[in-house]
Amino acid sequence: MLLAFFKTTLLALAFSIPAKAAGSAYFDAHLHYNAEQTEYVKPQDVIKKLKQHNISYAAVTSRPPSLVSRLHQLAPDTIVPVLGIYQTHKDKINWPHDATLIQRLETALKQKIWRGIGELHITAKDRHSPVFHRIIKLASQHRLPLILHADPAVIDTVYQLVAEQPVIWAHAGTFPYPDLIADYLSRYPQLHVDLSVRDHRIAPNGVINDSWYDLFNQFPDRFMTGVDTYSVNRWQNLGAVTASMRHWFEQLPADVAQNIQYKNAKRIYKP
Ligand SMILES: [Zn+2]
Repeated sequence: MLLAFFKTTLLALAFSIPAKAAGSAYFDAHLHYNAEQTEYVKPQDVIKKLKQHNISYAAVTSRPPSLVSRLHQLAPDTIVPVLGIYQTHKDKINWPHDATLIQRLETALKQKIWRGIGELHITAKDRHSPVFHRIIKLASQHRLPLILHADPAVIDTVYQLVAEQPVIWAHAGTFPYPDLIADYLSRYPQLHVDLSVRDHRIAPNGVINDSWYDLFNQFPDRFMTGVDTYSVNRWQNLGAVTASMRHWFEQLPADVAQNIQYKNAKRIYKP
C-alpha cells in the first residue's frame, strides 16, 4: 500500500519535471559587446537577456574594453569581464604590429576585475610578433587565460613560451577537425576549446556527430561554448542559439554536458 503510494507520487513527480531541468546551470564562455551594438542592445538589455535565458555566468569582451566594465558594474555576479585588446575595429588586423597596445593593457590590468584576455585574432604568420609574445607573458604574470582565435601553429608558439598558460582556443581553431583537436589536447594540458559557432559541424541537423561525441567523452574537462555575439543579430538570436546548443548537450552523458555547459568555463575563468 505504502509502496503503491510511493510509486504514484514518484510518477506524478516524474511528469511534473521536464526530462532535463530547464534551469540547469549554464555559463556562456564567448560573448562580445562592441561600440556599434550599444545603440541597438543597451547594457540593461544585455543583462535582461542573460537572465531571461537562464545564463548564470557570461564571459564578455568588448571593444573598447570600458563597455564590459560598465556591464560588470550592472551585474557583477553574472558578467565575467574579459579584457579585449582592440580600441577600434581596425585593431583586429593591425594589433600584432602595434607596440603601443602593451602600455594600454598594462594600465587596464591594474583594474583587478579581469578574468581573461582576448579574444585575439591571429594567424600563423604573426605568431612571432613581439607584441603577441609580450601579451602571453602578461597573461601568465596575471594568471589569466588567453582567448585565441588562431591557427594551430599559434598554439604551438604559446606553449613553447609558457607551458602552463591556460588558453581557450576559440571556435575549436581554424581547422576544427576532431582528430586535430584531440592531438592538440593530448599535447597541451592547459589548452581548452571553445565550441562557439561550430554547432553545424558538431550536430548537423541537430544530431550530435559521432567523432565529436567521442572527443567530448575523451576530454570531458576541456570544452566550453557560447553564442559569440559578434553582431546585433547574434544578440537578438541569443535565445535561439542557446536553445540549439542545449539541444546537443542533452544528447551527451549528463556529467559531460554539465562540464561543457558550465563547469569547465567556471574552473578556467574563476568568476
Ligand atoms: Zn568571438
